[in-house]
Amino acid sequence: MAPIGGILLDLDGVLYVDDVLIDGALAALDDLQQRQLPVRYITNTSTRTAQQVCERLCRLGLPAVPEQVFSAVEATRLWLEARAITRIAPLVSDEVQTYLASRFELDEERPEAVVVGDIGDRWNYQLLNQAFRWLMDGAMLVCVHRNRYWQTGNALSLDIGAFVAGLEYAAGVKATLVGKPAAAFFESACASLAVPPAQVLVVGDDIESDIGGAQRAGCRGVQVETGKYRAALAQRSQISPDYQIPSIAALPHLLDRL
Ligand SMILES: [Mg+2]
Repeated sequence: MAPIGGILLDLDGVLYVDDVLIDGALAALDDLQQRQLPVRYITNTSTRTAQQVCERLCRLGLPAVPEQVFSAVEATRLWLEARAITRIAPLVSDEVQTYLASRFELDEERPEAVVVGDIGDRWNYQLLNQAFRWLMDGAMLVCVHRNRYWQTGNALSLDIGAFVAGLEYAAGVKATLVGKPAAAFFESACASLAVPPAQVLVVGDDIESDIGGAQRAGCRGVQVETGKYRAALAQRSQISPDYQIPSIAALPHLLDRL
């Protein structure tokens, strides 16, 4: 096995849930720093820019600089730029819309791509119908992620995957996923670490988005049993993590064994 040269850390459910740090998260990050292992914070959160994600981490007391944040928003921008797409219709938060508007032309007539991200409870029939019509007019459907659900407080909540699936069904199109678990997302994150995927550990609470995606990109996946982790759901996914630890607190111990 190749030695570990870098770490990709999922945020929500791994380092914190809502605004509460997971026990041992700070000590584990400290340990990574001592080992001089470069870290990227990877997140499918599409409501915040890298700068805003970083500010939130710092507020929670976690060491972070914007360059360490690799989010689905960055992955979206890279994907659109690589295909020379200039006119988009983003269904995203106001902050992310402002960020995308600085890079792309927002077009409500004939967009080349409809970009779907998290907009909380702003989903309604009118919005979905507008997106449906853009797609019928030939726009591509791009989704920042297609998570089925997410953990908030004590309950699981419906995530945007349901709306993406609905649009695909109605318009007869296939969405392009640019966030986790797309292999391209993990490959780009590894490239930003300047470490080959085989030497990268990905730590996540989502068996499909984090572990499955990591493995398809050639990284090793570490499942934590915090956040949205449910033993029964993990078993049903038919994905086997390379390693499984109770929480991020056990990461130093795992690294000692590798
Ligand atoms: Mg997570």
